[in-house]
Formats: sequence, structure tokens, C-alpha cells
Amino acid sequence: MSVMNTAKSSVENASSIPMFEILTQYQSLRAEIESAVRSVLDSTEYIGGKALKEFEHHLGLRFNARAIAVSSGTDAILASLMALNIKPGDKVITTPFTFFATAGCISRAGARPVFVDIDPATFLMRTDAIHAVADSRCKAIIPVHLFGQMCEMDPLAELCGKHNLMIVEDAAQCIGARDSRGRVPGELGRTACLSFYPTKNLGAAGDAGAVIVRDPALATRLEQTRQHGETSRYHHAFVGGNFRLDGIQCAVLNVKLKYLDNWNNRRRQIAAYYSSRFKNSDIMAPAEIPGTHHVYHQYVIRIPRRDAAREHLQKHGIGSVVYYPRPLHLQECFEDLGYKEGAFPASEQACREVLALPVFPELTDAQIQRIADTLLAFYQ
Ligand SMILES: *Cc1c(COP(=O)(O)O)cnc(C)c1O
Repeated sequence: MSVMNTAKSSVENASSIPMFEILTQYQSLRAEIESAVRSVLDSTEYIGGKALKEFEHHLGLRFNARAIAVSSGTDAILASLMALNIKPGDKVITTPFTFFATAGCISRAGARPVFVDIDPATFLMRTDAIHAVADSRCKAIIPVHLFGQMCEMDPLAELCGKHNLMIVEDAAQCIGARDSRGRVPGELGRTACLSFYPTKNLGAAGDAGAVIVRDPALATRLEQTRQHGETSRYHHAFVGGNFRLDGIQCAVLNVKLKYLDNWNNRRRQIAAYYSSRFKNSDIMAPAEIPGTHHVYHQYVIRIPRRDAAREHLQKHGIGSVVYYPRPLHLQECFEDLGYKEGAFPASEQACREVLALPVFPELTDAQIQRIADTLLAFYQ
């Protein structure tokens, strides 16, 4: 997925609607962002410094927790697993229907990914499947709050208590979301991992991420993990990494954080419009768990003849993307885990049927109407 290419294609064809378009948002905030970036440049606080402190402070306030800014969403997950001392011989449970990083980090920590299937209606991990796989080597679980909707955290936390599993939430796609009981990421998990990849709901001008954490001792451990396990100057109590986030990215994020709720509301509005249009059609709209606050990082439908529908949209200048075309248990790098086709039928079926439509907040009403019209026309 190239951010640069999507920006270019929208310039090439003025009437096309790309899957992502982040230039408009930048242009609307250009003066504010440039001045914030310039003060970091002038201060020479390129690592650490005031912009980092401010961003961590404001982000932490949103979650009523500590926020530790890190170099990416991937590194937020890896640093969490390292700080929780996940090690070779351990197993970590997750879903095969997610972005690669979730399971990749489990392997990089030296542990073994153990997959459980998804609920076909919500695409979220089926918590009742945990009983069947949780053994004494399972130390943790990474629930993924996929597409902007949170897993129900209370039942999950109760189950994890029974099986002695630490929860590391993959919240890369759900900043601003709440579950049906109002829980936010990081409230019941040991940590929650955020991504600020440029096209995420809160996007930096490059790679960036954060760990949300409530336990002060774990927060300290994460700060040390981010800085090569350094516990005092040039004393390394354990091996960490360089997971620091640049001051320039913090400055950009600090500006954008103020607008996040408005952008999320617009995403929800666009999703509600699509879902109302797709009622009583061949297009299956994404299910919202009643009472949940979904922030629609992606608006993902299930459709018959998916690839032909996608081509039809393409022909009419409308971008769309398949998230995700291949479940993780069937990735080449995980062959040695021994999973075969058919192991997780709901995930495999989702990979064949899903399509994500454009849902970025700067889309106009006319554009979303055209997207719905064009897709519905394909099925008439
Ligand atoms: C984006 C994403 C990540 C990784 O975040 P990066 O900032 O790209 O490293 C992890 N998990 C999920 C579900 C994501 O969508």
C-alpha cells in the first residue's frame, strides 16, 4: 500500500476516488503542522524533548493512562511482548485475520503464534475458541480490534483470568473506539498498541506508534525497552531495542490529535450512509456490536463475485482494497506452524469475500453517493 501513489493518482484523474487520500487533510492543517515541525527543527530536540513529552501527555489523557510513544505500531506490539518477558518456548494466541505485524511480532519475540478463528459477522477473534487452545505454554493473547471495532473486553478479560493469559491489545486500527461497556484500549489489557501509519485514523508524516499502559511499573519497563533495556545511564538490565519516536513526528501528531474525534465522527457518518444504502441488497454491510463505538478505520463489506465487483469499481475510477487476501496461518513464513487450509474456515471465507471501500473523512457526500451507486449498479 503506497501512500505516495494514491496521492498521485488523484491528481492524474480529477474525477477518480482513491482508496486513501491524505493530501487534503495535510493541506487543511499545513500552517499549523509546518510551524510545529519548525519549532522542533529550531530546538534541535530531534530525539526526546518537548514535542515528545507533550504528545505523550495529551495521548495519555485521552486514555487515562500512560502513553509511551514508539517508532511504529509494529514496535509497540514487539516492545510490549518484550517488556512482558515473552520468550522462546512461550505461545501467544491471536487471530489469522489481521495485518501481518500482529503475528510477526509474536515470532520475533521468539514465541509461537497460536491462531483462533473469527466471528464471521464482526471479523473479530472468537473468544470462546480460546478454551480449546490455551495450555500452560500460552502466556499471552493479542486480540485485534479490527477495522475500528473493539473486541468485547469484559468477557475476554474474564476468560484470560481463568487461563492466566496476559492481554496485549492490537489497537492499531481503533484509536477513539469504545466497546459496548465503554471500555477503551488499554483499560483491561496490560498494554494497547497504537499505530500512526499515515493512513490510520490518526496518521503521522511517516512511521509512528504508541503503547498505552496503566501499570506504572510496566510503563517504566516499556520506556527502558524503548531504549535498549537501559535502566540507568549505560547500564542495561535486559536487552531492548531502539523503539524511539522522533520529535518531528510527535509535533505532527500533537497537532492532529485535536481533530481526531471530528475525523472519526465523519468516518462513522460515511459508514452509516453506506450501510443504509446497502440494506436489502447483495452487499453485506459490516456488523456493529450493539452499543459499541466503531471508528471505521476500514469499511469492509462481504460480497458475491468480489473480484469482478472490484474491477467494476476500478473501471469507474473508484479505489478499493482487499483486507486481507490471505489469512496468516497460510503465509509461507508460518508453514512450520503446521496449519493447513481449512483450519480456520471463517477467516478463509472472509479472505475470499471482503472488500474495503474508501472511508477517509475528507470524502464528500457526492463521492460516497457515487461509490454506493456504482457498487449497487453492479448487482442490478
Ligand atoms: C497498521 C497495523 C499494525 C502495524 O502498525 P505499523 O505502524 O504499520 O507498524 C499492526 N496491527 C494492525 C492490525 C494494523 O492495522
